[in-house]
Amino acid sequence: MNGSALMNIRTINDVDVTGKRVMLRVDLNVPIVNGAVLDITRIQKIIPTIRSLTDRGARVIVLSHLGRPNGCENKDLSLRLVANALSELLNGIKVRFIDDAIGPAARDGVNRTGNGEIAVLENLRFYPGEEANDPGFVRELGELGDIYVNEAFSCAHRAHASTYGLASLLPAYAGPSMMAEIDALETVLGSPKRPVAAVVGGAKVSTKLPVLKNLVGKVDVLIVGGGMANTFFHAAGHSIGKSLCEPDLAAEVTEIMNRAQQAGCRIVLPECAVVAEKFEAGAVLGTFKLGDIPDQGMILDIGPDSQSLVLNEISRCRTLLWNGPLGAFEISPFGDGTNAVAREAARLTRQARLITVAGGGDTIAALNAAGVGEDFTYVSTAGGAFLEWLEGRELPGIQALLPNQDHQLARSA
Ligand code: AMP
Repeated sequence: MNGSALMNIRTINDVDVTGKRVMLRVDLNVPIVNGAVLDITRIQKIIPTIRSLTDRGARVIVLSHLGRPNGCENKDLSLRLVANALSELLNGIKVRFIDDAIGPAARDGVNRTGNGEIAVLENLRFYPGEEANDPGFVRELGELGDIYVNEAFSCAHRAHASTYGLASLLPAYAGPSMMAEIDALETVLGSPKRPVAAVVGGAKVSTKLPVLKNLVGKVDVLIVGGGMANTFFHAAGHSIGKSLCEPDLAAEVTEIMNRAQQAGCRIVLPECAVVAEKFEAGAVLGTFKLGDIPDQGMILDIGPDSQSLVLNEISRCRTLLWNGPLGAFEISPFGDGTNAVAREAARLTRQARLITVAGGGDTIAALNAAGVGEDFTYVSTAGGAFLEWLEGRELPGIQALLPNQDHQLARSA
């Protein structure tokens, strides 16, 4: 994505919202169990944005999906419960739930919503037009609003009606959380303070190889750990026992190594590993150098020498991007490598010597387990959209916010 184009994205600070019907796309895809919202974190996160709009007299129309109803109404996935939770958190501001997202009931509910009040529309994915970005559905939704604000970076990799289509119909703006995410990713991959390192670990090798392909052209040092590293060892002809590995991807790994060399990116791989017979705390066989991994063993963490190697690398960098743990951190002692690197990265961040951006569900869990979840410069909760940005792909939800975009919908309407 072109960094200078991103600077042109307009934010809600650039518009007078008083009396306007603001269609606010957020991600309220919260876990619901036995008819109760299990985790309200995502609802809490949107409160400051909603308040900043209602304080300025906007009529806020909240748009979200919940779960995967596949275009059909499903009462278990209604946003009613979420609207109730939002109302409790906003205590004092009127929140109206509308059990439709288009049509007369939606229009009537929005008309009754006054300045400084909120309407929550029903789950957008009850309508097939949402995921299909159907022009008719977009038009019906668009009738309910005057301006569109996207606060859902986590959905920006989807070209749906509410993440893409609406932006071409209404004046479109980014919310503050969306801008924070874009700024953080630009800080590491747009014009970073160099040297810049990326740590990529975890177990989803095939999903993350496209990430590595892009990163070798952007970062100075690529540190590969976790299950990812095993496929690199295998491709280099090392025996890795029973370790997690995707042998079919050896050719792709070799291509990534070649690309890195051409781009002047150093790939750093662990040289020693903590090996166990099973995925169990008591099954540790010991620390082994690469080349000496026993046939019955599984590599489950980087060894102490490799910890020092990685710490040394990041101490020389000014920017660090992190996705994926360096070992099977959920089981002690295989979290030691991840903990050591996370704590050092956090220490350097606190000393303003390193800018640290991390993302991915397991990465956040690993940073929290290391006790440093709050210390990184920015931690993204966006999952798929975060990984697609790391792959260097254009995210439709962001593209749609760029001024003067020639959108698909505008062409087909
Ligand atoms: P990902 O979602 O790709 O970031 O993968 C995270 C998962 O990778 C965590 O559950 C870790 O336990 C797992 N993991 C990290 N290193 C290894 C390894 N060497 N072998 C097996 N699993 C690993």
